[in-house]
Amino acid sequence: MANLKQWVNLPKESRYVGDGISSEERLDFLYFKHKFKTAKPASFKVSIVPSGSGNIKYSKEELKRHAGFRLRKPPVQVSTSTSTPKVEQEMFLPAAGGNTYKVKAKYNNKVVESTTTVEVWRRLYYEVISMYDPIKQYPVPYLSSMSGFENAFVNSSKKFNIELKEKGNGRKKMKFIKTIHNTNHAEFRDEARKAYTIDSYYPYAVAVVFSNFLADYVDFEVIDTVSRSIPSKLFHWGAYADEFVVNIADIYGRSKYIWEGLDDDHDKTKFWLFSATFVAKDGRQYTIPKDDVTITGAKTYSLGGYKQVKVSLKNIPRQFFSSFEGTIQLKVNILDGGFTGGFSYTNLNLITVGTLSWWDSTPSTNSEMLQTLNHEMGHKVGMVGYGDKDHRKKNEKLRKQGKSVSFEFRPELPDAPKTLYGEHRGVNNQGHLGPHCGKGAKFNNNTGEWSGKPGCVMFGSNATEDPVGTYNFTPATFCDQCEPVVRKLDLNGTLLSGLKKRF
Ligand SMILES: [Zn+2]
Ligand SMILES: [Zn+2]
Repeated sequence: MANLKQWVNLPKESRYVGDGISSEERLDFLYFKHKFKTAKPASFKVSIVPSGSGNIKYSKEELKRHAGFRLRKPPVQVSTSTSTPKVEQEMFLPAAGGNTYKVKAKYNNKVVESTTTVEVWRRLYYEVISMYDPIKQYPVPYLSSMSGFENAFVNSSKKFNIELKEKGNGRKKMKFIKTIHNTNHAEFRDEARKAYTIDSYYPYAVAVVFSNFLADYVDFEVIDTVSRSIPSKLFHWGAYADEFVVNIADIYGRSKYIWEGLDDDHDKTKFWLFSATFVAKDGRQYTIPKDDVTITGAKTYSLGGYKQVKVSLKNIPRQFFSSFEGTIQLKVNILDGGFTGGFSYTNLNLITVGTLSWWDSTPSTNSEMLQTLNHEMGHKVGMVGYGDKDHRKKNEKLRKQGKSVSFEFRPELPDAPKTLYGEHRGVNNQGHLGPHCGKGAKFNNNTGEWSGKPGCVMFGSNATEDPVGTYNFTPATFCDQCEPVVRKLDLNGTLLSGLKKRF
Protein backbone atom coordinates (compact mmCIF):
# COMPACT_ATOMS: atom_id res chain seq x y z
CA MET A 1 0.00 0.00 0.00
CA ALA A 2 2.16 2.73 -1.32
CA ASN A 3 1.76 6.30 -0.30
CA LEU A 4 2.28 8.53 -3.28
CA LYS A 5 2.62 12.26 -3.67
CA GLN A 6 1.14 13.85 -6.75
CA TRP A 7 2.20 17.38 -7.76
CA VAL A 8 -1.03 18.24 -9.50
CA ASN A 9 -0.19 21.76 -10.68
CA LEU A 10 2.85 20.86 -12.79
CA PRO A 11 2.59 19.33 -16.28
CA LYS A 12 4.16 15.99 -17.12
CA GLU A 13 7.45 17.38 -18.39
CA SER A 14 10.98 16.25 -17.60
CA ARG A 15 12.09 19.72 -16.44
CA TYR A 16 9.88 19.38 -13.36
CA VAL A 17 11.32 15.99 -12.36
CA GLY A 18 13.88 16.17 -9.54
CA ASP A 19 14.12 17.62 -6.02
CA GLY A 20 11.97 14.82 -4.64
CA ILE A 21 9.81 14.27 -7.73
CA SER A 22 10.87 10.86 -9.03
CA SER A 23 9.25 10.80 -12.46
CA GLU A 24 6.75 12.47 -14.77
CA GLU A 25 4.13 10.04 -13.47
CA ARG A 26 4.06 12.00 -10.23
CA LEU A 27 3.08 15.21 -12.07
CA ASP A 28 -0.35 16.40 -13.16
CA PHE A 29 -2.93 13.61 -13.62
CA LEU A 30 -2.76 10.01 -12.48
CA TYR A 31 -2.42 7.59 -15.33
CA PHE A 32 -3.38 3.93 -15.61
CA LYS A 33 -2.76 1.59 -18.47
CA HIS A 34 -3.83 -2.04 -18.77
CA LYS A 35 -3.44 -4.64 -21.45
CA PHE A 36 -5.97 -7.39 -21.90
CA LYS A 37 -5.55 -10.65 -23.72
CA THR A 38 -9.08 -11.86 -23.88
CA ALA A 39 -11.04 -9.66 -21.54
CA LYS A 40 -13.42 -6.87 -22.49
CA PRO A 41 -11.82 -3.47 -21.88
CA ALA A 42 -15.25 -2.01 -21.08
CA SER A 43 -15.20 -3.86 -17.77
CA PHE A 44 -12.12 -1.93 -16.64
CA LYS A 45 -12.71 0.79 -14.04
CA VAL A 46 -10.67 3.12 -11.88
CA SER A 47 -12.30 4.31 -8.72
CA ILE A 48 -11.09 7.08 -6.52
CA VAL A 49 -12.42 8.07 -3.10
CA PRO A 50 -11.35 10.60 -0.50
CA SER A 51 -9.22 8.97 2.14
CA GLY A 52 -9.32 9.97 5.79
CA SER A 53 -11.27 12.91 7.14
CA GLY A 54 -8.80 15.77 6.60
CA ASN A 55 -9.76 16.64 3.05
CA ILE A 56 -10.90 20.14 2.30
CA LYS A 57 -14.20 20.31 0.42
CA TYR A 58 -14.96 22.75 -2.33
CA SER A 59 -18.30 24.54 -2.27
CA LYS A 60 -20.95 23.73 -4.88
CA GLU A 61 -20.26 27.06 -6.55
CA GLU A 62 -16.53 26.37 -6.71
CA LEU A 63 -17.12 22.94 -8.23
CA LYS A 64 -19.50 24.42 -10.75
CA ARG A 65 -17.37 27.30 -11.96
CA HIS A 66 -13.88 25.81 -12.25
CA ALA A 67 -12.81 22.42 -13.59
CA GLY A 68 -9.54 22.49 -11.63
CA PHE A 69 -11.52 22.11 -8.41
CA ARG A 70 -13.18 18.91 -9.61
CA LEU A 71 -12.12 15.29 -9.78
CA ARG A 72 -12.09 14.66 -13.49
CA LYS A 73 -12.05 11.33 -15.21
CA PRO A 74 -11.99 11.59 -19.01
CA PRO A 75 -13.55 8.60 -20.80
CA VAL A 76 -11.50 5.42 -20.82
CA GLN A 77 -9.50 5.22 -24.01
CA VAL A 78 -9.62 1.84 -25.68
CA SER A 79 -7.05 0.96 -28.26
CA THR A 80 -7.82 -1.87 -30.65
CA SER A 81 -4.94 -1.26 -33.00
CA THR A 82 -3.04 -4.30 -31.78
CA SER A 83 -4.15 -7.82 -31.21
CA THR A 84 -3.94 -7.12 -27.48
CA PRO A 85 -6.63 -4.60 -26.46
CA LYS A 86 -5.35 -1.85 -24.21
CA VAL A 87 -7.15 0.65 -22.00
CA GLU A 88 -5.83 3.90 -20.66
CA GLN A 89 -7.36 6.00 -17.92
CA GLU A 90 -6.39 9.50 -16.79
CA MET A 91 -7.54 10.85 -13.43
CA PHE A 92 -7.25 14.53 -12.61
CA LEU A 93 -7.26 15.17 -8.88
CA PRO A 94 -8.77 18.38 -7.50
CA ALA A 95 -6.26 21.19 -6.92
CA ALA A 96 -6.52 21.28 -3.12
CA GLY A 97 -3.25 20.71 -1.29
CA GLY A 98 -3.08 18.08 1.44
CA ASN A 99 -6.13 16.16 0.23
CA THR A 100 -5.63 12.38 0.08
CA TYR A 101 -7.40 9.83 -2.08
CA LYS A 102 -7.59 6.07 -2.35
CA VAL A 103 -7.19 4.83 -5.87
CA LYS A 104 -8.26 1.37 -7.03
CA ALA A 105 -8.09 -0.10 -10.48
CA LYS A 106 -10.76 -2.78 -10.96
CA TYR A 107 -11.74 -5.34 -13.56
CA ASN A 108 -15.25 -6.75 -13.28
CA ASN A 109 -15.27 -5.24 -9.78
CA LYS A 110 -12.17 -7.21 -8.85
CA VAL A 111 -9.23 -5.06 -7.79
CA VAL A 112 -6.47 -5.56 -10.36
CA GLU A 113 -4.16 -2.88 -9.02
CA SER A 114 -3.58 -2.61 -5.31
CA THR A 115 -5.15 0.30 -3.47
CA THR A 116 -2.91 3.31 -3.41
CA THR A 117 -3.17 6.42 -1.28
CA VAL A 118 -2.25 9.60 -3.07
CA GLU A 119 -1.59 12.97 -1.41
CA VAL A 120 -1.95 16.21 -3.35
CA TRP A 121 1.01 18.60 -3.53
CA ARG A 122 1.73 21.78 -5.45
CA ARG A 123 5.10 23.25 -6.34
CA LEU A 124 6.45 26.58 -7.57
CA TYR A 125 10.02 27.76 -8.17
CA TYR A 126 11.73 31.01 -7.25
CA GLU A 127 15.07 32.73 -7.66
CA VAL A 128 16.45 35.36 -5.30
CA ILE A 129 17.98 38.48 -6.81
CA SER A 130 19.32 41.39 -4.80
CA MET A 131 20.41 44.83 -5.83
CA TYR A 132 24.11 45.52 -5.64
CA ASP A 133 26.02 48.73 -6.23
CA PRO A 134 29.47 47.66 -7.51
CA ILE A 135 31.02 51.12 -7.07
CA LYS A 136 29.92 51.63 -3.51
CA GLN A 137 30.11 47.86 -3.01
CA TYR A 138 26.72 48.12 -1.45
CA PRO A 139 24.52 45.04 -1.45
CA VAL A 140 21.01 45.70 -0.21
CA PRO A 141 20.21 43.53 2.79
CA TYR A 142 18.28 40.36 2.11
CA LEU A 143 16.96 37.38 4.02
CA SER A 144 19.92 35.07 4.47
CA SER A 145 17.58 32.14 5.09
CA MET A 146 14.45 31.54 3.07
CA SER A 147 13.14 28.82 5.41
CA GLY A 148 10.50 31.08 6.98
CA PHE A 149 9.21 31.81 3.48
CA GLU A 150 9.14 28.16 2.39
CA ASN A 151 7.65 26.91 5.67
CA ALA A 152 4.78 29.40 5.54
CA PHE A 153 3.63 27.86 2.24
CA VAL A 154 4.33 24.19 2.96
CA ASN A 155 2.76 24.57 6.43
CA SER A 156 2.68 20.84 7.15
CA SER A 157 0.38 21.20 10.15
CA LYS A 158 -2.23 23.01 8.02
CA LYS A 159 -1.41 20.90 4.94
CA PHE A 160 -1.02 23.81 2.52
CA ASN A 161 1.43 21.57 0.61
CA ILE A 162 2.81 24.38 -1.53
CA GLU A 163 6.50 23.69 -2.02
CA LEU A 164 8.57 26.71 -2.96
CA LYS A 165 11.88 25.55 -4.43
CA GLU A 166 14.77 27.96 -4.69
CA LYS A 167 16.50 27.55 -8.05
CA GLY A 168 19.22 29.26 -10.02
CA ASN A 169 22.22 28.06 -8.04
CA GLY A 170 22.76 30.93 -5.63
CA ARG A 171 21.70 34.52 -5.15
CA LYS A 172 21.92 36.77 -8.18
CA LYS A 173 22.96 40.41 -8.24
CA MET A 174 21.25 43.10 -10.24
CA LYS A 175 21.93 46.77 -10.85
CA PHE A 176 21.35 48.99 -7.83
CA ILE A 177 18.37 51.29 -8.26
CA LYS A 178 18.06 53.65 -5.31
CA THR A 179 14.27 53.89 -5.48
CA ILE A 180 11.76 52.09 -7.64
CA HIS A 181 9.28 54.86 -8.39
CA ASN A 182 6.59 56.04 -10.85
CA THR A 183 8.79 56.21 -13.91
CA ASN A 184 11.50 53.55 -13.67
CA HIS A 185 9.55 50.30 -13.45
CA ALA A 186 10.60 49.35 -16.98
CA GLU A 187 14.26 49.87 -16.07
CA PHE A 188 13.77 47.85 -12.89
CA ARG A 189 12.25 44.93 -14.79
CA ASP A 190 14.90 45.09 -17.53
CA GLU A 191 17.69 44.95 -14.97
CA ALA A 192 16.02 42.19 -12.97
CA ARG A 193 15.54 40.17 -16.16
CA LYS A 194 19.30 40.32 -16.85
CA ALA A 195 19.91 38.58 -13.53
CA TYR A 196 17.08 36.06 -13.78
CA THR A 197 18.15 32.55 -14.82
CA ILE A 198 15.20 30.23 -14.18
CA ASP A 199 12.89 31.09 -17.04
CA SER A 200 12.97 27.38 -17.99
CA TYR A 201 10.44 26.86 -15.17
CA TYR A 202 7.96 29.29 -16.70
CA PRO A 203 5.04 29.60 -15.89
CA TYR A 204 5.74 28.11 -12.46
CA ALA A 205 8.51 30.44 -11.36
CA VAL A 206 8.78 33.81 -9.66
CA ALA A 207 11.67 36.24 -9.27
CA VAL A 208 12.10 37.56 -5.73
CA VAL A 209 14.06 40.82 -5.77
CA PHE A 210 15.41 42.52 -2.66
CA SER A 211 15.50 46.22 -3.49
CA ASN A 212 16.29 49.49 -1.74
CA PHE A 213 13.53 52.16 -1.47
CA LEU A 214 10.02 51.81 -2.94
CA ALA A 215 8.17 55.09 -3.21
CA ASP A 216 6.38 57.37 -5.67
CA TYR A 217 6.41 61.11 -6.26
CA VAL A 218 3.53 63.40 -7.00
CA ASP A 219 3.34 67.07 -7.93
CA PHE A 220 2.13 69.49 -5.32
CA GLU A 221 1.40 73.19 -5.15
CA VAL A 222 2.51 75.23 -2.18
CA ILE A 223 0.77 78.57 -1.78
CA ASP A 224 2.65 80.44 0.87
CA THR A 225 0.20 82.93 2.35
CA VAL A 226 2.76 85.06 4.16
CA SER A 227 3.08 88.44 2.46
CA ARG A 228 6.67 89.19 1.42
CA SER A 229 7.93 92.61 0.49
CA ILE A 230 10.17 93.56 -2.43
CA PRO A 231 11.91 96.81 -1.45
CA SER A 232 12.31 99.69 -3.88
CA LYS A 233 15.63 100.35 -5.55
CA LEU A 234 16.26 103.12 -3.03
CA PHE A 235 16.80 100.48 -0.39
CA HIS A 236 19.39 97.78 -0.01
CA TRP A 237 18.28 94.22 0.45
CA GLY A 238 19.28 93.40 3.98
CA ALA A 239 21.99 90.77 4.37
CA TYR A 240 19.43 87.94 4.65
CA ALA A 241 16.20 89.82 4.27
CA ASP A 242 15.77 88.58 0.73
CA GLU A 243 15.63 84.97 1.87
CA PHE A 244 12.45 83.39 3.16
CA VAL A 245 11.80 79.92 4.52
CA VAL A 246 8.69 78.28 3.09
CA ASN A 247 7.13 75.18 4.64
CA ILE A 248 6.16 72.49 2.16
CA ALA A 249 2.71 71.92 3.56
CA ASP A 250 -0.90 71.77 2.51
CA ILE A 251 -3.51 74.38 3.42
CA TYR A 252 -4.10 72.60 6.74
CA GLY A 253 -0.43 72.96 7.60
CA ARG A 254 0.34 69.27 7.16
CA SER A 255 3.99 68.92 6.16
CA LYS A 256 5.02 67.07 3.03
CA TYR A 257 8.37 65.52 2.25
CA ILE A 258 10.30 66.89 -0.70
CA TRP A 259 11.21 64.30 -3.37
CA GLU A 260 14.92 64.49 -2.77
CA GLY A 261 17.59 61.94 -1.89
CA LEU A 262 15.72 59.12 -3.61
CA ASP A 263 17.08 59.24 -7.16
CA ASP A 264 20.56 60.64 -7.87
CA ASP A 265 19.61 61.72 -11.39
CA HIS A 266 16.57 63.53 -10.04
CA ASP A 267 18.71 65.28 -7.44
CA LYS A 268 21.21 66.46 -10.08
CA THR A 269 18.50 68.10 -12.16
CA LYS A 270 16.60 69.47 -9.17
CA PHE A 271 13.66 67.36 -10.24
CA TRP A 272 11.82 68.17 -7.01
CA LEU A 273 11.23 71.76 -8.17
CA PHE A 274 8.90 72.47 -11.11
CA SER A 275 8.54 76.20 -10.70
CA ALA A 276 8.66 79.07 -8.26
CA THR A 277 6.64 82.25 -8.75
CA PHE A 278 6.29 85.51 -6.92
CA VAL A 279 2.72 86.76 -7.26
CA ALA A 280 2.41 90.47 -6.54
CA LYS A 281 -0.72 91.85 -4.94
CA ASP A 282 -1.73 93.48 -8.21
CA GLY A 283 -1.64 90.07 -9.89
CA ARG A 284 1.65 90.43 -11.76
CA GLN A 285 3.69 87.23 -11.70
CA TYR A 286 7.45 86.97 -11.59
CA THR A 287 9.40 83.75 -12.17
CA ILE A 288 11.85 83.03 -9.39
CA PRO A 289 15.00 81.42 -10.86
CA LYS A 290 15.38 77.77 -9.83
CA ASP A 291 18.80 78.53 -8.35
CA ASP A 292 17.12 80.85 -5.88
CA VAL A 293 15.12 78.00 -4.34
CA THR A 294 17.06 75.55 -2.15
CA ILE A 295 16.25 72.88 0.39
CA THR A 296 16.74 73.90 3.99
CA GLY A 297 15.84 72.92 7.54
CA ALA A 298 16.54 69.79 9.50
CA LYS A 299 16.26 66.39 7.92
CA THR A 300 13.79 64.12 9.67
CA TYR A 301 15.75 60.90 9.09
CA SER A 302 19.42 60.02 8.95
CA LEU A 303 19.50 59.98 5.13
CA GLY A 304 17.09 62.83 4.42
CA GLY A 305 13.45 63.77 4.64
CA TYR A 306 13.17 67.55 4.22
CA LYS A 307 10.06 69.67 4.56
CA GLN A 308 11.25 73.25 4.01
CA VAL A 309 12.81 75.35 1.28
CA LYS A 310 14.59 78.68 1.27
CA VAL A 311 13.51 81.16 -1.40
CA SER A 312 15.54 84.18 -2.37
CA LEU A 313 13.67 87.08 -3.98
CA LYS A 314 16.74 89.11 -4.85
CA ASN A 315 16.25 88.53 -8.58
CA ILE A 316 12.69 89.84 -8.66
CA PRO A 317 12.80 93.15 -10.58
CA ARG A 318 12.49 95.99 -8.12
CA GLN A 319 10.65 99.27 -8.67
CA PHE A 320 12.34 102.60 -8.44
CA PHE A 321 10.48 104.41 -5.77
CA SER A 322 8.08 102.04 -4.08
CA SER A 323 8.25 98.60 -2.54
CA PHE A 324 5.57 96.04 -3.34
CA GLU A 325 4.09 93.03 -1.66
CA GLY A 326 3.23 89.55 -2.82
CA THR A 327 3.34 85.87 -2.03
CA ILE A 328 5.52 82.95 -3.04
CA GLN A 329 3.98 80.05 -4.92
CA LEU A 330 5.84 76.82 -5.57
CA LYS A 331 5.16 73.74 -7.63
CA VAL A 332 7.20 70.83 -6.34
CA ASN A 333 7.44 67.05 -6.40
CA ILE A 334 6.79 65.49 -3.04
CA LEU A 335 6.76 61.96 -1.68
CA ASP A 336 3.38 60.47 -2.57
CA GLY A 337 1.97 59.11 0.66
CA GLY A 338 4.70 56.97 2.14
CA PHE A 339 7.20 54.24 1.43
CA THR A 340 6.09 50.76 0.41
CA GLY A 341 7.42 47.59 1.99
CA GLY A 342 7.09 45.55 -1.17
CA PHE A 343 4.92 44.84 -4.15
CA SER A 344 3.90 42.06 -6.43
CA TYR A 345 3.11 42.86 -10.06
CA THR A 346 -0.48 41.71 -10.53
CA ASN A 347 0.22 40.43 -14.02
CA LEU A 348 3.93 39.57 -13.96
CA ASN A 349 5.97 36.88 -12.21
CA LEU A 350 8.00 39.33 -10.16
CA ILE A 351 7.97 40.28 -6.49
CA THR A 352 10.10 42.86 -4.78
CA VAL A 353 10.79 43.51 -1.13
CA GLY A 354 12.03 47.00 -0.26
CA THR A 355 14.61 46.92 2.50
CA LEU A 356 14.85 50.62 3.37
CA SER A 357 12.16 53.20 4.02
CA TRP A 358 11.71 56.78 5.15
CA TRP A 359 15.33 57.84 4.43
CA ASP A 360 16.27 55.63 7.35
CA SER A 361 19.70 54.00 7.14
CA THR A 362 18.56 51.07 9.30
CA PRO A 363 17.28 48.32 7.03
CA SER A 364 14.11 46.34 7.65
CA THR A 365 14.47 43.49 10.11
CA ASN A 366 14.33 39.87 8.98
CA SER A 367 10.82 39.50 10.34
CA GLU A 368 9.65 42.60 8.45
CA MET A 369 11.18 41.31 5.22
CA LEU A 370 9.64 37.89 5.76
CA GLN A 371 6.20 39.36 6.41
CA THR A 372 6.40 41.42 3.21
CA LEU A 373 7.72 38.50 1.17
CA ASN A 374 5.01 36.11 2.34
CA HIS A 375 2.36 38.75 1.67
CA GLU A 376 3.57 39.39 -1.88
CA MET A 377 3.91 35.66 -2.59
CA GLY A 378 0.39 35.29 -1.21
CA HIS A 379 -0.78 37.65 -3.98
CA LYS A 380 1.18 35.61 -6.55
CA VAL A 381 -0.61 32.38 -5.70
CA GLY A 382 -4.01 34.08 -5.88
CA MET A 383 -4.66 35.37 -2.37
CA VAL A 384 -6.94 36.68 -1.20
CA GLY A 385 -9.29 34.54 -3.32
CA TYR A 386 -12.51 36.16 -4.52
CA GLY A 387 -13.67 33.71 -7.19
CA ASP A 388 -17.25 33.87 -5.97
CA LYS A 389 -17.42 37.65 -6.40
CA ASP A 390 -18.81 37.94 -9.87
CA HIS A 391 -19.16 41.65 -10.39
CA ARG A 392 -19.45 41.55 -14.14
CA LYS A 393 -22.86 43.22 -14.10
CA LYS A 394 -21.69 45.86 -11.66
CA ASN A 395 -18.57 46.46 -13.78
CA GLU A 396 -20.69 46.86 -16.88
CA LYS A 397 -22.70 49.54 -15.11
CA LEU A 398 -19.55 51.36 -14.00
CA ARG A 399 -18.13 51.21 -17.54
CA LYS A 400 -21.32 52.74 -18.92
CA GLN A 401 -20.88 55.58 -16.46
CA GLY A 402 -17.43 56.12 -17.96
CA LYS A 403 -15.64 54.88 -14.85
CA SER A 404 -12.60 52.69 -15.17
CA VAL A 405 -12.93 49.18 -13.83
CA SER A 406 -9.99 46.95 -13.17
CA PHE A 407 -11.83 44.25 -11.27
CA GLU A 408 -11.99 40.98 -13.17
CA PHE A 409 -14.11 37.93 -12.56
CA ARG A 410 -11.65 35.21 -11.56
CA PRO A 411 -13.54 31.88 -11.54
CA GLU A 412 -10.30 29.92 -11.02
CA LEU A 413 -9.90 31.45 -7.54
CA PRO A 414 -11.53 29.87 -4.48
CA ASP A 415 -14.46 31.52 -2.71
CA ALA A 416 -13.55 34.58 -0.66
CA PRO A 417 -13.08 34.31 3.10
CA LYS A 418 -15.50 36.52 5.01
CA THR A 419 -12.56 38.73 6.00
CA LEU A 420 -11.87 39.79 2.37
CA TYR A 421 -11.78 43.49 1.61
CA GLY A 422 -10.60 45.58 -1.32
CA GLU A 423 -11.80 43.13 -3.94
CA HIS A 424 -13.79 45.76 -5.81
CA ARG A 425 -10.60 47.54 -6.80
CA GLY A 426 -11.34 51.21 -6.40
CA VAL A 427 -14.82 50.85 -5.02
CA ASN A 428 -14.17 49.24 -1.68
CA ASN A 429 -10.41 49.43 -1.26
CA GLN A 430 -10.45 50.61 2.33
CA GLY A 431 -7.16 52.32 1.70
CA HIS A 432 -5.34 49.32 0.23
CA LEU A 433 -5.19 48.25 -3.40
CA GLY A 434 -5.90 44.65 -4.26
CA PRO A 435 -7.62 41.81 -2.44
CA HIS A 436 -6.67 41.70 1.25
CA CYS A 437 -7.76 40.14 4.55
CA GLY A 438 -8.99 42.29 7.43
CA LYS A 439 -8.90 39.61 10.14
CA GLY A 440 -8.49 41.26 13.53
CA ALA A 441 -8.52 44.82 12.16
CA LYS A 442 -11.29 47.36 11.67
CA PHE A 443 -11.66 50.11 9.09
CA ASN A 444 -13.30 53.40 9.92
CA ASN A 445 -15.02 54.76 6.82
CA ASN A 446 -15.19 58.26 8.27
CA THR A 447 -11.56 58.69 9.22
CA GLY A 448 -10.08 56.27 6.69
CA GLU A 449 -8.03 54.74 9.50
CA TRP A 450 -7.51 51.12 10.51
CA SER A 451 -7.54 50.02 14.12
CA GLY A 452 -7.25 46.72 15.97
CA LYS A 453 -4.60 44.06 15.60
CA PRO A 454 -4.04 42.60 12.12
CA GLY A 455 -4.26 38.81 12.33
CA CYS A 456 -3.27 37.78 8.82
CA VAL A 457 -0.27 38.10 6.51
CA MET A 458 -2.71 39.28 3.83
CA PHE A 459 -3.62 42.46 5.71
CA GLY A 460 -2.92 45.35 3.32
CA SER A 461 -0.42 47.17 5.52
CA ASN A 462 2.48 46.12 7.73
CA ALA A 463 0.86 47.49 10.89
CA THR A 464 -1.99 49.42 12.43
CA GLU A 465 -1.46 52.26 14.86
CA ASP A 466 -3.91 51.66 17.69
CA PRO A 467 -3.87 53.56 19.95
CA VAL A 468 -1.81 56.32 18.31
CA GLY A 469 1.85 55.63 18.92
CA THR A 470 1.34 51.89 19.44
CA TYR A 471 2.10 49.75 16.43
CA ASN A 472 0.40 46.39 15.96
CA PHE A 473 2.49 44.58 13.40
CA THR A 474 1.01 42.29 10.78
CA PRO A 475 2.01 38.62 11.19
CA ALA A 476 3.85 36.57 8.54
CA THR A 477 1.29 33.76 8.51
CA PHE A 478 -2.19 33.20 7.11
CA CYS A 479 -5.19 33.50 9.43
CA ASP A 480 -7.77 30.79 10.11
CA GLN A 481 -10.15 32.39 7.56
CA CYS A 482 -7.53 32.26 4.81
CA GLU A 483 -6.21 28.76 5.60
CA PRO A 484 -8.91 26.87 3.67
CA VAL A 485 -8.55 29.32 0.78
CA VAL A 486 -4.79 28.66 0.56
CA ARG A 487 -5.44 24.92 0.53
CA LYS A 488 -7.99 25.23 -2.28
CA LEU A 489 -5.84 27.34 -4.62
CA ASP A 490 -5.35 26.02 -8.12
CA LEU A 491 -1.68 26.71 -8.84
CA ASN A 492 -1.94 26.03 -12.55
CA GLY A 493 0.53 28.63 -13.84
CA THR A 494 -1.28 29.05 -17.12
CA LEU A 495 -4.29 30.40 -15.21
CA LEU A 496 -2.79 32.53 -12.46
CA SER A 497 -2.33 36.13 -13.58
CA GLY A 498 0.76 36.55 -11.39
CA LEU A 499 2.56 33.66 -13.10
CA LYS A 500 1.37 33.40 -16.68
CA LYS A 501 3.10 36.54 -17.95
CA ARG A 502 6.87 36.98 -17.90
CA PHE A 503 8.22 40.17 -16.40
ZN1 LIG B 1 -1.07 43.42 -0.77
ZN1 LIG C 1 -6.61 36.10 6.36
